[in-house]
Amino acid sequence: MPDQPFHLLINGRAVEAATSFGVIDPATGSQFAACPLASIEQLDAAVAAARAAFAGWAATPVDDRAERLLAIAGAIEAEQNDLAALLSREQGKPFKSALGEIGGALYWIRATAALRPPVERIDKGEGPVVKIHRRPLGVVGSITPWNFPVMIAIWHVIPALLAGNSVVIKPSPNTPLTTLRLAEIASGHLPAGVLNAVTGDVEIGSAMARHPGIDKIVFTGSTPTGRAIMRDGAANLKRLTLELGGNDAAIVLADADVDAVAPRIFSAAFGNSGQICAAIKRLYVHEDIHDALAAKLTEMAAAGVVGPGSDPASQYGPLQNRRQFDYVSALADDARAAGGRFLAGGEASGGDGYFFPLSIVVDVSDGTRIVDEEQFGPILPIIRFDDAEDAIARANASENGLGGSVWSSDVAQAARLAQRLECGTVWVNDHSTISPDIPFGGAKQSGIGVEFGQHGLDEYSQLQTVRIPR
Ligand code: NAD
Repeated sequence: MPDQPFHLLINGRAVEAATSFGVIDPATGSQFAACPLASIEQLDAAVAAARAAFAGWAATPVDDRAERLLAIAGAIEAEQNDLAALLSREQGKPFKSALGEIGGALYWIRATAALRPPVERIDKGEGPVVKIHRRPLGVVGSITPWNFPVMIAIWHVIPALLAGNSVVIKPSPNTPLTTLRLAEIASGHLPAGVLNAVTGDVEIGSAMARHPGIDKIVFTGSTPTGRAIMRDGAANLKRLTLELGGNDAAIVLADADVDAVAPRIFSAAFGNSGQICAAIKRLYVHEDIHDALAAKLTEMAAAGVVGPGSDPASQYGPLQNRRQFDYVSALADDARAAGGRFLAGGEASGGDGYFFPLSIVVDVSDGTRIVDEEQFGPILPIIRFDDAEDAIARANASENGLGGSVWSSDVAQAARLAQRLECGTVWVNDHSTISPDIPFGGAKQSGIGVEFGQHGLDEYSQLQTVRIPR
């Protein structure tokens, strides 16, 4: 694998590129495939194709657009095993998790295809009758990261297309291949030019953000890149949806049932090897139960099987790329130097792959990098507190505001506290769970706008008020 070459998708055709770049298998650190690298001229051609296709697609009845999206879901499902194998190889996650990601993407396509842009009517009994329609924006540029390449591509592309926009997608250069295959599959069910796929990194991404032919950028990735896109997009006042970094705090109150909450906290911290935007990244635990919960989580971390995605025994894959591996290793070293005590993991065992063990660190606090920065990897810092007010203040002392949670046997009290967290989503006795019908987005520097559900769909359209004389 892979036995077929990969192509860009421009105006419904598979297109070769003059140059290519290597895609690394994170389990070995070695290149396993070559990906075509799009030129700026090819980006221009993709945008021109999307612009040309826009009017026809926008005029296609929404029910017909939805039908085509459902057909795409069927076609992806038919190839899900091959897609999952490719996703596992380029992203690093175990095959079963890759299949789960594709299953999630199918679920999202089907739920999103059932949404419809509403038409509102205002009639005061006199004066004009007013209808508020939603018009598609034009060409949407989608820029995706490497942690959930398939799921996030679907989150961007499907509502954009349903709302009547055409799309140019650019995946992360770390994980471009499954997205190119998805685009190829989808193109069999869409008019030429409605969906285009290009590749590359900062140069192509920032050319998309500056491109006068692109009306909106939907971006999932880091906060610094989000800022750059905002700056670049100002050229033509691009609409933006930015889903950025998080440093989610979970606060466990003294009355929480340690045995009941531990497995849920564990999976919300270590799923996808911690490479989840809304994973638990800082765990504040009341001092009465701190040691008991830390011991329970340590047991689970020690039992977790980290290994190559291709090994059916693996539950957790490597970090996705060398840069992330080096960064997570540096955070671990810094935590140790600051007096942090690793109860599990803490150091990579060597070898060529980007494997880092599931790690629990205690005796760290705010002011150390592992607490203040987003680790995006499998290290959970546990921070002791004795006053819930203080825990809330520390949780809020962050430029991020993606998610947060409070854990307690008193659900009403936990909900009251949770609502004081400055973030886009708060959970009680849970964390990280998302659904296609519930809006999700960041407060503060974790993002702008939301995805999912009717509110998410609204981000791909512009209100048009039509005033009709009575
Ligand atoms: P990144 O910002 O480095 O890259 C993301 C994408 O942006 C890639 O496709 C990259 O090629 C492109 N890019 C880089 N520079 C660009 C520029 N100047 N202009 C336009 N595009 C550019 O992020 P990453 O390292 O791939 O992903 C990890 C980060 O993403 C983490 O911070 C994580 O929290 C965040 N993330 C957020 C969410 C969310 O929903 N909030 C989801 C997943 C990941």
